[in-house]
Amino acid sequence: MKLLIIEDEENILSFLQRGFSEEGHIVDCAIDGEDGEYKATVNKYDVIILDWMLPFKNGMEIIGSIRKLNIKTPVILLTARDETSDKIIGLRKGADDYLTKPFCFEELLARVDGLHRRNISGGNDEIKFKNICINLNSKIIKKDGVAVEISAKEYDLLLFLIKNKNYVVSNTMICEGVWNDEEFINSNVIQVMVYRLRKKLGKNIIKSSRGLGYKIEI
Ligand code: CA
Repeated sequence: MKLLIIEDEENILSFLQRGFSEEGHIVDCAIDGEDGEYKATVNKYDVIILDWMLPFKNGMEIIGSIRKLNIKTPVILLTARDETSDKIIGLRKGADDYLTKPFCFEELLARVDGLHRRNISGGNDEIKFKNICINLNSKIIKKDGVAVEISAKEYDLLLFLIKNKNYVVSNTMICEGVWNDEEFINSNVIQVMVYRLRKKLGKNIIKSSRGLGYKIEI
């Protein structure tokens, strides 16, 4: 998935960036509130990890402005505050989850995964459509009950299409959602990956709209 981490403590930021990258996720970082708010409004992320106390703009202000723009990306708040009233303020403002510092990375990872899952499948561990079943915990995909081997990138692309189900997504949107900004990819890469997914999961799983993009109907 694609994550935005907004955190002004450089040690924590680089630790989180490394941790999530090693898990295969694409990570954008912002070291202050203004940059974070800007990135959160112009780019699309699966989950935003947001520190509360930040220079220029604090976490509460950022949540307020992105929710005002109707950006529904799940947000997990990180903070040193552990007062119940603070948690309530954060959740009322539109945060989806809350973790108090110091925390262990495994817990953050599990919560971020959980938010992403809730966002894609309404909290279910499995997504089923046609003859395909995707287990979001184990990342095992079955076609007619038989496990199919797919690469991490193919999995990300499949999930991105499912997240945008019933809509045609363009190559540009796929590129932004599944790859890192720094990585150069052309539409051929996407075409090849769609070809491979169709070969493994069935030709009619991913529909093409000529010149427009791809769509999964669920
Ligand atoms: Ca801070």
